[in-house]
Amino acid sequence: MAMAYKQKLRRSKQRKAPPPKEIPPLCPPTPQRASFVEQKKSVDLVDRTDRPAIRFVRVEDRLIKVPEGLFAQMSGRIRDSLGFTSATGGGSTPERPIFLRGHTSDQFEQLLRAYNSYPSLDMRTMTLDNILTIGELAVGYEMRILVEWLRPCLHILVLDHNTPLRTAGSRVYQRMLWLAMCLRSWKIYTSIVDKWISRLYWGQLPPIPALLFADAHGIAHLLSHACYVYLVDVQKLLTTGKNINENGALSPRQEMYIKSGYLSLKTTWSKLQRNALEFRSSGCVLHAQCVSVWRQRWKAFANAPCSTSDVDVLKRLSFMEDSLREDVVLDRCMAPSCKALALGAIKRRRNEMALELHHHFDL
Ligand SMILES: [Zn+2]
Repeated sequence: MAMAYKQKLRRSKQRKAPPPKEIPPLCPPTPQRASFVEQKKSVDLVDRTDRPAIRFVRVEDRLIKVPEGLFAQMSGRIRDSLGFTSATGGGSTPERPIFLRGHTSDQFEQLLRAYNSYPSLDMRTMTLDNILTIGELAVGYEMRILVEWLRPCLHILVLDHNTPLRTAGSRVYQRMLWLAMCLRSWKIYTSIVDKWISRLYWGQLPPIPALLFADAHGIAHLLSHACYVYLVDVQKLLTTGKNINENGALSPRQEMYIKSGYLSLKTTWSKLQRNALEFRSSGCVLHAQCVSVWRQRWKAFANAPCSTSDVDVLKRLSFMEDSLREDVVLDRCMAPSCKALALGAIKRRRNEMALELHHHFDL
């Protein structure tokens, strides 16, 4: 009887197509019984084939049956930390489940469904939250196959013309940026940071979530711009000595960033009010006159009443560039080529400042 069973099993194994060479033996998920048979010596087969190749996990208050193949996709480090590798250990019975923490049972079920659907997992049929949840858990459990599935998904989500980041809230930005960092996808990372900064300046997203996330993850460029936008929001409070951290969102160190930025940017603008930006000569014959009238008009516009705060130096520089470009006195008294160079100096100074904002906040 046992011999007949073995022959049947052998024929069954012969009919099975060999796994594709380019796919590692652990992945994609293979039928559990076949996976189990391949790992055991033939002498064990009769005794063990009836045993379901599952493990029991507990997530929150739910006991969930999980194919062993899902654990096989995890890195060895994660399997060891979960106590999976011991044959008699965690998860082999409902009484001794593997405890999974750091996510909800619903989120884990999304991962489980993704595992069961792969390689037919289609992002077009999934919600954004669904894709990000699967990505986060796959990264957390170091499931290489699903992480590699995530990579092009994230690429499309971030770089597509109709990216959800055009309207998404801060939480989606945090989740996507975290995934981009884990995947070391620098093109995606840079694009998310740039989009986030733009929406901060457009007033579409609040600066505090960006500030906290950037500070926690050492993203200086995002942090400095979030500090800048927050500073512009609260500068009136600082001017009157009021509390800028009423709801306690900022740590004392982060509050110091804002206060340092306030003093530094006020000083910067004060210097700019007194001293016009210098520019190269275009080789005109009356360049002394160009310089003289430029300095005069600069001071006039820099000291004119303005609704923009003094600490918002980036906006003040944009205002200066626009005003001086339209100024009829400059048109009359300055060589056009020198005027173009002078306006170019403002733009350059503004761009340099935007890249080096972190100095103002002592980051
Ligand atoms: Zn000139």
